[in-house]
Amino acid sequence: MRKKIVAGNWKCNTTVPAGVELAKAVVAAVNASGDPEVEVVVCPPFVHLTSVAAEVTGSRVRTGAQNCAAEPKGAFTGEVSAEMVKSAGAEYVILGHSERREYYGETSATLNKKLAQAFAQGLTPVYCCGEPLPLREAGSQNEFVKKQLDETIFLLPEADFRKLVIAYEPIWAIGTGKTASAAQAQEMHSFIRGAIADKYGRKVADEISILYGGSCKSSNAKELFANPDVDGGLIGGASLDPADFLGIVNGFKG
Ligand code: PEP
Repeated sequence: MRKKIVAGNWKCNTTVPAGVELAKAVVAAVNASGDPEVEVVVCPPFVHLTSVAAEVTGSRVRTGAQNCAAEPKGAFTGEVSAEMVKSAGAEYVILGHSERREYYGETSATLNKKLAQAFAQGLTPVYCCGEPLPLREAGSQNEFVKKQLDETIFLLPEADFRKLVIAYEPIWAIGTGKTASAAQAQEMHSFIRGAIADKYGRKVADEISILYGGSCKSSNAKELFANPDVDGGLIGGASLDPADFLGIVNGFKG
């Protein structure tokens, strides 16, 4: 069944104690007045995972990692495997974030290995896609995103594909304060869902959650989430503020 999901990507922010405090505040806010229909996920840095997962245990908040290694284990200094992430309490893993593609040279080939590792550990990948500004300005965003999908998640067998979550994140909207309009978000989400229907069939397409990411805040979440093909958000900056994050969690309420 298609889930409504709001996931916070904390990126490289907060110390471990500050992250635990943030998780505590998110749990308190969600328990007090979070929309019960929304799955809430926090994705702290790796070193916070065990403590944050312990902090949210017993609440409605789930934990995710921001990345995982392409290899299962071995001599890969500095890498953190999907198995480690899972053993630390994560249920989700963000893969293919544009910052990883851009700053760390993550290719489709690397992503395919990471997706395989995530599935092998029973983690739910939050697969990110989205176009840079020049392609949006040239009107080529659909072709760009379709190519990203074709090279990665569209190579998955249906049984795996059905388990993942997609996040559409136009690069020009990430951390810029410039949000895609509700119409732009709906247009792309509908395009992605249509491409899924072509590849895996309408039933699968209707069951996949497609999140929007890119300067989503409590002030614009309602408008974005009102779209039929927007099933929630992947939230960067605003996920560091529990009140703003709660406002986004409640963005589906009329
Ligand atoms: C993100 O990096 O996933 C993101 C959406 O960031 P922001 O909300 O800060 O634009």
